[in-house]
Amino acid sequence: MNKSEARNKIKDYSRLILHHNELYYAKDAPEISDSEYDKLFRELNKLEKDFPDLAKTDSPTKRVGAPPLKEFESVKHKTKLQSLDNAMDIEELEAFDERVKKALGKDKIEYVCELKIDGLAVVLTYKDGKLAQGATRGDGTKGEGITLNLLTIKDIPQKADRFSGEVRGEVYLPYNDFLKLNEQREEEGEPRFANPRNAAAGSLRQLDSQITAKRPLSIGCYFGDIPAKKFKTHFEIINYLKKYEFKTNPNVEPCHGMAQVEKYISKWQSKREKLDYEIDGIVVKVNSLADQKELGATSRAPRWAIAYKFPPVQAKTIIEDIKVQVGRTGAITPVAYLKPISLAGVVVKRATLHNEDEIKRKGIWVRDQVIVQRAGDVIPEVVKLVKHASDSKEFKMPTACPICDGELYRPEGEAITRCINAGCPAQVKERIRHFATRDAMDIEHLGPAIVDQLVEANLIKDVADLYTLDKKELLKLERFAEKSAQNLLDSIEKSKTRPYDRLLYALGIRMVGRNTAALVASHYYSLEDLFHIEGEKLENIQGVGPKVAHSIEHFFSEKENKLLIERLKKYGLSIKSGKEKGPQPLAGKTFVFTGGLETITRPEAEELVRNLGGHPASSVSKNTDYVVAGTDPGSKYDKAKKLGVQILSEKEFSGLLRKPSF
Ligand code: NAD
Repeated sequence: MNKSEARNKIKDYSRLILHHNELYYAKDAPEISDSEYDKLFRELNKLEKDFPDLAKTDSPTKRVGAPPLKEFESVKHKTKLQSLDNAMDIEELEAFDERVKKALGKDKIEYVCELKIDGLAVVLTYKDGKLAQGATRGDGTKGEGITLNLLTIKDIPQKADRFSGEVRGEVYLPYNDFLKLNEQREEEGEPRFANPRNAAAGSLRQLDSQITAKRPLSIGCYFGDIPAKKFKTHFEIINYLKKYEFKTNPNVEPCHGMAQVEKYISKWQSKREKLDYEIDGIVVKVNSLADQKELGATSRAPRWAIAYKFPPVQAKTIIEDIKVQVGRTGAITPVAYLKPISLAGVVVKRATLHNEDEIKRKGIWVRDQVIVQRAGDVIPEVVKLVKHASDSKEFKMPTACPICDGELYRPEGEAITRCINAGCPAQVKERIRHFATRDAMDIEHLGPAIVDQLVEANLIKDVADLYTLDKKELLKLERFAEKSAQNLLDSIEKSKTRPYDRLLYALGIRMVGRNTAALVASHYYSLEDLFHIEGEKLENIQGVGPKVAHSIEHFFSEKENKLLIERLKKYGLSIKSGKEKGPQPLAGKTFVFTGGLETITRPEAEELVRNLGGHPASSVSKNTDYVVAGTDPGSKYDKAKKLGVQILSEKEFSGLLRKPSF
């Protein structure tokens, strides 16, 4: 490979890894299996080793996890939390042992082997026996503050007698609870979690700790930093934690030398199915803390530990066809129709190919022989090409939606192609289900089965049709009687009173969750204000990034979506916030405040701007209309000057508010 090819590949792989990091760490919704991800990561690592001058200092191979989400309090960790290097096979594990022996000048090392529970790492900080703070790992330096959520987990002691220090562990959801949670989500029209790890992470990273409290999460503690204690080995730490009633995994075992480590691995590789929680490998750690210190760490992982990852279950088969599926948000997913094969006791007939880029990257065509794998509960996927057949045909992504023939759209820099027609029948059922969920319009008695029945009977084609349902028509349907029909109609009627931000969420705009909808609704008081919105304006709202802004702009630029909202308005739904709008002289103007204000507080000034139709923003860009500089203005002042943005004193700002228009 020449340098220019390597440069392109490094760029492509970095982009793909960052895309998957965001799905996995920020959204708890991965698209590819861990082993596929690990392969990508290793390919990038290898390229960076072969072409060191092309390796960027901020490459994903040098980072841990992902930055904390803005919605949570950001917690700075006392010491950096790291990831673990992986060994994919026994050879790589033995190479790790060789490195450790060489660095320590020993011929046999005492290790401690632990199950690698597939969950989410958390740090628990205790002060004088009380749990003072709990956080996620985040990017290793800063995590998300989730103390209240962690307090709902019964296996985490709220008090540990006279204990001060830090305990780390893996929060997880037992397998059966994960299955139950997915069933429940399906009934409520929520997307399923891909695996127990994502279910645990999604349950823990909730803004409302009452939701976390309903999920039976558990923890396996594997690390303790207790300054008052002078431990010599890792195993002593584990035993100490147990004494203080921290839940540690019962299968932690010291192993003298590699032979015992390998025995431990092979035992758990065959017994893992019997555990009631998912493990994705074995963590092997040097037991002596002095040796750990001597070995040190790289920027991403300690040199004294390694994660041996279990191989996923794989098999060879033929792709008979590739068809695309249309999901709720219009995501077009190519699916391989396979010659059926048995994978770990399950007959697999279809496997996901994720998206267009993945098909190209793997070079997969219809009729190819391929390797397919199942990992945990993740949908089976096509891992790689074995060989093309003489009649193999290249797959071409359709240019129009296979269901409604509508326009397909692939935003720049994104991997997913989507059907953007809100009326697409394939999306209709899922959209209506989402619309009716508790967090959205909360329409009781409108479960998934009823939605199917109403759509199939042609009574509804979109969410607005719900408000035209007629009792006589309902009574003609199977399973509907006087009472059930009336209950449904009453719930639909009741939903008309839901506040406007719930409706904004219920519309199912991609990337617009409950919090984003509330945030946007607090800046734009009516759905009609969003009809001609420019993404750049939305980006001025703190917490709305460019992708979300673009998605909202795109949704409202569609004629069908505007018509849908107009019909909802006609049927009596509230498409405005309760706040009465006065004159809007600042409409479309963006303000940034810097420095101290003397006559009002910053939030009051921002609220004033909002009430007059303007947008307070947190950072200065070329789209900023005014920077209001108070006493001791910060760097925003310099940036405004550099960009030529108009700067106002507090007095000038007050004057501006009194002017009738601008
Ligand atoms: P990791 O999961 O490979 O290893 C580190 C983590 O292991 C620790 O942070 C801790 O949470 C956990 N752990 C479990 N038991 C432990 C024990 N006994 N001792 C110590 N740690 C223990 O690394 P990572 O940085 O969390 O994530 C990288 C991995 O995540 C990748 O290798 C991949 O498998 C997965 N990932 C997948 C995707 C995807 O799209 N599928 C995307 C990003 C990351």
